[in-house]
Amino acid sequence: MKGRKLLMIPGPIEFEPDVLQAMGMATTSHIAPDFIEVLGKSLELMREVWKSPKGQPFIVAGTGTLAMDMAASNLIEQGDNVLVISSGYFGKRFKDISDRYGANTTILEAPVGEVVSIEAIEKELKTRPYKALTITHVDTSTGILVDPKPIAQLANKYNTLSILDGVCSVAGEEINQDEWGLDVVLTASQKAIGVPPGLALLMASPKAMQVWQNRKTPVSNYYADWNNWLPIMKAYEERRPSYFGTPAVNLIVALETSLKIICKEGMDQRVKRHQSLAKAFRAGIASLNLSILPKTNKIAANTLTAVYYPKGIDGGALRIKIANNNVIIAGGLLSEIKTEYFRIGHMGSVSANDLIAVLGALERALLELGYNMVSGISLQAFQNELRK
Ligand code: PMP
Repeated sequence: MKGRKLLMIPGPIEFEPDVLQAMGMATTSHIAPDFIEVLGKSLELMREVWKSPKGQPFIVAGTGTLAMDMAASNLIEQGDNVLVISSGYFGKRFKDISDRYGANTTILEAPVGEVVSIEAIEKELKTRPYKALTITHVDTSTGILVDPKPIAQLANKYNTLSILDGVCSVAGEEINQDEWGLDVVLTASQKAIGVPPGLALLMASPKAMQVWQNRKTPVSNYYADWNNWLPIMKAYEERRPSYFGTPAVNLIVALETSLKIICKEGMDQRVKRHQSLAKAFRAGIASLNLSILPKTNKIAANTLTAVYYPKGIDGGALRIKIANNNVIIAGGLLSEIKTEYFRIGHMGSVSANDLIAVLGALERALLELGYNMVSGISLQAFQNELRK
């Protein structure tokens, strides 16, 4: 399709045709036997993607922010100490949510382009008993990747629940929820899970469920309360009809289709694909003498890349030219430097060809704006890195 635009923002992403087709099927009753099977199976497949055979999955209509809200409202009580480890915009959002439920929230913020050190986290955990800590696995505003494994280990050492915002990582970055001892891993449908926006997805560990069960006060968020949703999730997994709020039937049919595609590829293979494409893309960007936000490649996300505009190039004009080339990318999000950088999503069903299209459109736009570069250089760097 000549005028077809390629959506390369960090969510929503390009979706598999099979997923979109599944979504377009005639809507059934939410208690029809075939839908009960679809929702039941989706809950089972989530455990495979999250690598959490012991976890309790939740599928609820809403966005990633609802998944964050669900974790906070069910696990936090008035006066609890909560530690937010932030590497961008979405870390700050977790502080706002945690404050809303009456927590004493402490935020450790990394300078732009960096991550909070393990030493700083341990030092803070020693100061008082923390009920929970939150980690943004990939902060979509900065393209920073945090390694959740050592933080989850620390959380366990200090008897603190660990909550991972995996909105921009689940089904794209490596996650081993049970093995790493993460208590909550949450996401939304529109990113690497590969389903149009509208589903909040969350996996809670047995310890998280225990802490929730032992609450002294009722959950103050009615819609997000696990008291309402746990019986529903259990019923569907046992292939029984049940009702609290009408499930997003078509989205869940699409979710099952996407989870099957993900599991067929296999999580290990999928993570490797994201890593090798991201690495090759960064090589392409570097060959153009452009800098990425993360200070090192080790902390650069594999699901998106955040790139500074080159000096002397008008960011708005660059993005318009890229859009005129039928590739949609995102601008900056972090308020301090919003106008200084742009972001490219590369997660889910992303292929090498998609990223070649992005680099091609970016090169044409840069050349038109008079940027000093050799045409085709980033494509060469990308291909060379990919073939390694
Ligand atoms: N956390 C992260 C890391 C995100 O990238 C986003 C969405 N960009 C959210 C939370 C919030 O998700 P939603 O927009 O679906 O509410």
